[in-house]
Amino acid sequence: MEESKNFIEHEIDKDLKEGVYDHVQTRFPPEPNGFLHVGHAKSILLNYGLAKKYGGTFYLRFDDTNPSKEKEEFMDAIIADVKWLTGYDDKVLYASDYFDEMYEAAVRIIKNGKAYVSELSAEEIREYRGTLTEPGKNDPNRDRSVEENLRLFEEMRSGNVPDGAMTLRAKIDMASPNINMRDPILYRVAHIPHARTKDKWCIYPMYDFAHPSEDAVEGTTHSICTLEFEDHRPLYDWVVKEGAYGHTPRQIEFAKLYLENIVTGKRYIKKLVEDSIVDGWDDPRIVSIAGLKRRGFTPESLKLFVELSGISKANSVSDYAMLEYCIREDLKLKTKRMLAVLDPVKLVIDNYPEGETEELDAPNNMENEELGSRKVTFSRELYIERDDFMEEAPKKYFRLFPGNEVRLMYAYFVTCTSFEKDENGNVTVVHCTYDPETKSGSGFNARKVKGTIHWVSAQDAYLAKVRLYENIIDEEKGVYNDDGSLNLNPNSCVVKDAMVEGCLKEAAPFEKFQFVRNGFFSVDPKDSQEGAPVFNRVVSLKSSYTLPKKEG
Ligand code: ATP
Ligand code: MG
Repeated sequence: MEESKNFIEHEIDKDLKEGVYDHVQTRFPPEPNGFLHVGHAKSILLNYGLAKKYGGTFYLRFDDTNPSKEKEEFMDAIIADVKWLTGYDDKVLYASDYFDEMYEAAVRIIKNGKAYVSELSAEEIREYRGTLTEPGKNDPNRDRSVEENLRLFEEMRSGNVPDGAMTLRAKIDMASPNINMRDPILYRVAHIPHARTKDKWCIYPMYDFAHPSEDAVEGTTHSICTLEFEDHRPLYDWVVKEGAYGHTPRQIEFAKLYLENIVTGKRYIKKLVEDSIVDGWDDPRIVSIAGLKRRGFTPESLKLFVELSGISKANSVSDYAMLEYCIREDLKLKTKRMLAVLDPVKLVIDNYPEGETEELDAPNNMENEELGSRKVTFSRELYIERDDFMEEAPKKYFRLFPGNEVRLMYAYFVTCTSFEKDENGNVTVVHCTYDPETKSGSGFNARKVKGTIHWVSAQDAYLAKVRLYENIIDEEKGVYNDDGSLNLNPNSCVVKDAMVEGCLKEAAPFEKFQFVRNGFFSVDPKDSQEGAPVFNRVVSLKSSYTLPKKEG
């Protein structure tokens, strides 16, 4: 098969061929101001994948240049996420380690007459900036001498200037059609201690100055970012050139990953967490990487998803169903198929000897013989799914109803004889008789039954909490209400008291299973106790989803 390349790979090929670079170095540069989400996973896998493909280097580098928003808690979580997704165990880089280099570059820029200290307030700077249709006005401080600028910049750094009183601005062009080029601010005063540099600095670089500087200091070759930075690229190149760092990285933009009708943005996820609508940043219903992991998604499934969603310059939205497809693909051959009854009702086989049990053979995965088989306990009393019995069955209902015969998976044919109800009319017990001749594997084939149902033996069953998830948003009505609030789905997490095979009691955190007919499940790492696992449904078994055809 011919390998298809994305547009970034074509650009890299060109750069290598033309000798612009002789190697590839990429980075993933998160701001530690929240947990990462599925969109970041795309960026991580893209950057990491490119470095791998070209035999280059990839670094996780924290963009920790804004001390007012950053938190240690987020750093640990981000490191864990990147490691989980890619296996990354190289050193972690911090933009704040380059504050000295950035400061020196700013001094060089001032010396070249390309930056000046401004005393305009934030409000005034905004007013002077102009609009898309009108040019901006020059800052009254624009023509200060180099000496004065150096002195004032030193003043800013020494701590004698209050927050907001001065900024360092690039001297570019107040009439530029690109507003980013209208003398952007490079440094601001902020008397806030930094988690890593403590009180060393009271001036901090602005994003548009810091980011290219970090890439340049570090030796990044291809600085891959999302489309909203396209208009910032001229400024990126300006900073790299005027900062004279001695290395020239190249910025390339690609379209962000969005999921249809799913809360994805960091800001929105943060709100769900802060309003306690979800159980923290790793709630299995949210598409933070930690949430996806806790729900039961695997790095392989996310890799496949990122591949299928493609790398492009055009914004588009991906389907959550595609993500579900990817996890099914990954788990279908890897997981054991177990018996678990999510909504149990008792089935009594009246002609089966009381007190007797049998150990029946059950293959662990019909599509993957390598997973072997196990024994399941069969007995007179079983649990079956409540909806596998109907008092009065409509046409085409082939499961249990009075007079009907079905196969019990891996076991015998049983015929429903009667049932019991409580005072509220709920079925409490279903009665049946079995035909000992029909044991699975016995070669019996005298008659056909249309339905096969699953079960667990009351003898062996173990009561477990099983959680079924739906989108946290009510998809029918869209993400937002008219007043801007989120349109929440009240059924986004439903907890079941399920009866499951006894051996599942020992299941470990993150262990994954297929529960016959009910989906793929993963053991919750937080709410499970030793000997009492809680199972999260990752995804149901079937869907009508088909992969979109590849374009071009
Ligand atoms: P959000 O948009 O959710 O607030 P962010 O862009 O503020 O996220 P950063 O920490 O700045 O988060 O992002 C780190 C990297 O991840 C950046 O290179 C950014 O372009 C990339 N990234 C962020 N969101 C997405 C997305 N939805 N799809 C692909 N890449 C993304
Ligand atoms: Mg950001």
